[in-house]
Amino acid sequence: MALGFGVEYKYAMSEKQDPFSAPFGTLFGDHMSVATVDEDGVYEYAGAAQALENFSMHPATHALHYASAIFEGLKAHRQEDGSVAIFRLDDHVARMQVSIGKLRMPVAAADLIRQMIVDAATADVGHTPDAPGSLYLRPTFIGTAPNIGAAATPSATGMLYVITSPVGDYFAGGIRPLTIYIEHDTPRTTPQFGMVKSGANYVMALGPTLDAKRDHVADQVLFATGGDVTETGAANFFLVDDERVITRNLDESFLHGVTRRSVIQIAKDLGYEVEERAIQVDELKAWAEHGEMFLSGTAAVIAPVGKVIVRGETVQARDGQPGENTLKLRDALTSVQTGRSEDVHGWLTPIG
Ligand SMILES: *Cc1c(COP(=O)(O)O)cnc(C)c1O
Repeated sequence: MALGFGVEYKYAMSEKQDPFSAPFGTLFGDHMSVATVDEDGVYEYAGAAQALENFSMHPATHALHYASAIFEGLKAHRQEDGSVAIFRLDDHVARMQVSIGKLRMPVAAADLIRQMIVDAATADVGHTPDAPGSLYLRPTFIGTAPNIGAAATPSATGMLYVITSPVGDYFAGGIRPLTIYIEHDTPRTTPQFGMVKSGANYVMALGPTLDAKRDHVADQVLFATGGDVTETGAANFFLVDDERVITRNLDESFLHGVTRRSVIQIAKDLGYEVEERAIQVDELKAWAEHGEMFLSGTAAVIAPVGKVIVRGETVQARDGQPGENTLKLRDALTSVQTGRSEDVHGWLTPIG
């Protein structure tokens, strides 16, 4: 018996849904690409995308009990000339390999992951909205072994799949500066899972985020255990002024955003001095006097921060409005993504 869980799919094109009015991530393309990996670590892929459909799985499926599940999120953008290209495909493929490895599962070859993403995106390329919309791509890996005794072992089998989701502008109604709450005590995740893109990390960050929304009317929580700034539940953190761009140096405590890496490169291209180093909450608080702050991630690209709440005190970043350096970096990045400026770093993979 296939359990549908009462889920109804909304097919973007067939039902004429508008990605610009639907909430982010609630519309789906018509296709998915699916591969399985067996006990010997051998991946099997049909070699093409297939129709999107429900999965039927055993209630004891490993991912449902022991959280053997990771994902990626990247976008295909419609270009100025009407064609479509995926942004930084190989970087997302490489990060997905790291995440699968952290589940201690057999890591899929980069070529396979890459092909499956391209196949799903190509099959649904017709659903790609014009900029600032895009076709969001969601590669996912789950442990599929029906085994509730495998609490201390990796799932013996797995599934890799890619679905697509036409999305509109993350900031429908204009860019609104965010209020972020600084969390000093509860960490976002555990040291060994900091750089894994996993649902387990998201559900761990959820409680502190909902509490901050309720108690402090904050939009997001910036995790800074012991005063050491890391990131929010789903985005990296930056300080910027007219000369400098500062973000935390890479270590295993946080997710290495592809947007983060892109912002760093673009900032260098624009002549900013880039510092990758530790940021203390006290520095952040002082920075608000003269500088700007923003969050970076694939969904929102760059989201300006207007206010930070530090130990009960609300500090406004300058006038609380999106800063000019923040908007300049955002525009430079979205220009490359959509072909408005030249792709000098080879970040685009054309798909149709
Ligand atoms: C996905 C994610 C980011 C942003 O990464 P991008 O590659 O820029 O989209 C940041 N933090 C966490 C925890 C994430 O899961």
